[in-house]
Amino acid sequence: MWGRLSSLSDRLAYVFSVGGMGKRSREQRRSLPVGFADPVAPRVTLVPPYHVYICQNLRWDERYPCPPSCMLNTYRLESRSHTGWDRSFGEEHKGVRAVRYDNDVFFVATHADAEPRAGECVVKVHLAGICATDLEIIKGYMGFGGILGHEFVGTVESGSGQWQGRRVVGEINCACRSCDMCQAGLSGHCRNRSVIGISGHDGCFADYVTVPEINLHAVPDSISDEEAVFVEPLAAAYQVVKQYPIEPRTNVAVIGTGRLGLLVAQVLAATGCNLLAVGRNPKTLLFCEKKHIQAVPITELVAKQDRDMVVECTGAPEGFNIALQMVRPRGSVVLKSTFAGPGDLNLAPVVIHEINVLGSRCGPFADALDALARKEIDVSSMVSRTFRIERGVEALGAAAAPDNIKVLLKINPR
Ligand SMILES: [Zn+2]
Ligand SMILES: [Zn+2]
Repeated sequence: MWGRLSSLSDRLAYVFSVGGMGKRSREQRRSLPVGFADPVAPRVTLVPPYHVYICQNLRWDERYPCPPSCMLNTYRLESRSHTGWDRSFGEEHKGVRAVRYDNDVFFVATHADAEPRAGECVVKVHLAGICATDLEIIKGYMGFGGILGHEFVGTVESGSGQWQGRRVVGEINCACRSCDMCQAGLSGHCRNRSVIGISGHDGCFADYVTVPEINLHAVPDSISDEEAVFVEPLAAAYQVVKQYPIEPRTNVAVIGTGRLGLLVAQVLAATGCNLLAVGRNPKTLLFCEKKHIQAVPITELVAKQDRDMVVECTGAPEGFNIALQMVRPRGSVVLKSTFAGPGDLNLAPVVIHEINVLGSRCGPFADALDALARKEIDVSSMVSRTFRIERGVEALGAAAAPDNIKVLLKINPR
């Protein structure tokens, strides 16, 4: 029996060792009181954070071992009864796989089912994208706890007859539809909103995500999953041209050639404006050049205060200071970065040169879907790596590495 128990604890050690970014020791993680299994009742009760607590009255049923490919997604349990071990509650339990953040990042093989709120559909996630916001959240931005992720493509499983079985992407702001902002048509700024994977709403790094029906957009067959997963960040890039009218003679610069910067640069390039991209990473600067976008390394930049508009996408507070050195008097700086730490900002140039500073966040999904359907924006070659969801923690680490542009999570591929 000890042999069985020790192999059981090996599996548990694996569950916990794939999670975590090192804040807790492996031993501590293993000993977390993470769930509760009732040895009498024929069921397993899962409580947050949804691991099964293996006690002396419960063990894995090794007659039905998980194939290595299932990564503990399916398991059977046995309970100890008066007569020995029995499988009365050893039914197969198909757990929901998820990547969560609760002061630490970890993969959970047996998450509780997604519970849709009124007006929400359940979407089975095919692919999800990791963006800078996710990396900020795991540093503490927004004080979020729950399933991570807000960029996805999937198929509607339940919640609405009209959407059932359709391939969709979803807007991330879940609005109340009744506050003054909602009434004014600004539901993205709803005062009572939750935001998928960012604030008060579980995200899409999971088998299922719940999404308000009103937020869904159908994906045409001409757009692949690998492209559709970019709709949310691409829509955010289109927001820039919604906020600031651009003409072919407009002098524009994009600072930061990361994931979002490359999307913004491509959207701006399509307007035919006079565009300069500034970045640190030789790989992404080369990407710009391949798209015929003039690109300079930040180290070689000579800022001349000659740009009508500068879009700041660096994800770092210094980006704003560089933008102020590049923008002309009475020009505009559009801020796209969200970052957790406080910046060291000097606002005097904003006053002296009468600069317009525009915050810019989510954007029009319809424009992004149109652009992808027309093949106007190349997103596919931005994908550096794709990980299975079980390796979600590793994927987040990879997304933070400068060598990778976009990192995707493969969850339920079509
Ligand atoms: Zn994002
Ligand atoms: Zn509202």
